Amino acid sequence: SVNNDDLKARIRTIPDFPKPGIMFRDITTLLLDAHGLKTTIDRMVAAVDGPVDLVAGIEARGFLFAAALAVPLNAGVLLIRKDGKLPGATIAEEYALEYGHDRIAMHADACAPGARVLLIDDLIATGGTARAAVRLLRKAGAVVTQAHFVVDLPDLGGADALRADGVEVRSLVA
Ligand code: 5GP
Repeated sequence: SVNNDDLKARIRTIPDFPKPGIMFRDITTLLLDAHGLKTTIDRMVAAVDGPVDLVAGIEARGFLFAAALAVPLNAGVLLIRKDGKLPGATIAEEYALEYGHDRIAMHADACAPGARVLLIDDLIATGGTARAAVRLLRKAGAVVTQAHFVVDLPDLGGADALRADGVEVRSLVA
């Protein structure tokens, strides 16, 4: 099995961002490292199960990894954005935050019914964002069976909740 401590060492933790008490995992240091970035993409590609038609990336850091994976997978890229950012007709899905809620959206015509979509983001924490993305993609008719992340914060339970939604979850670093 692959040891990902080399990648973990390239991700730094910034205390008290964006709020006091939050330990933010900063992947910009991994992106800056040419070898670390290539290794990350290679290992994520190797973990993909079966053919994929589209790679869905979640705004904003998810876009970077989604595009880099889509090229070797011979797949297209589907953007999942904060509501109000996409120019065409959209469908949206709401999810709960600690205080209040947020909405993510995709173009209504972005995927054909039955399209096999791989969901990608940089990090899964509570899973609220990724689970809303899965609901949104399924509402559009996509078949979503796998979601991959660079970082999982397993104590927050997001990956387990996503698995309970019927999605295989993989990450490189915990
Ligand atoms: P969740 O919805 O799973 O609680 O939070 C995951 C979303 O918030 C992802 O889109 C991710 O980019 C962002 N996020 C939350 N915490 C962190 C963090 O510590 N580091 C990074 N890079 N992103 C985070």
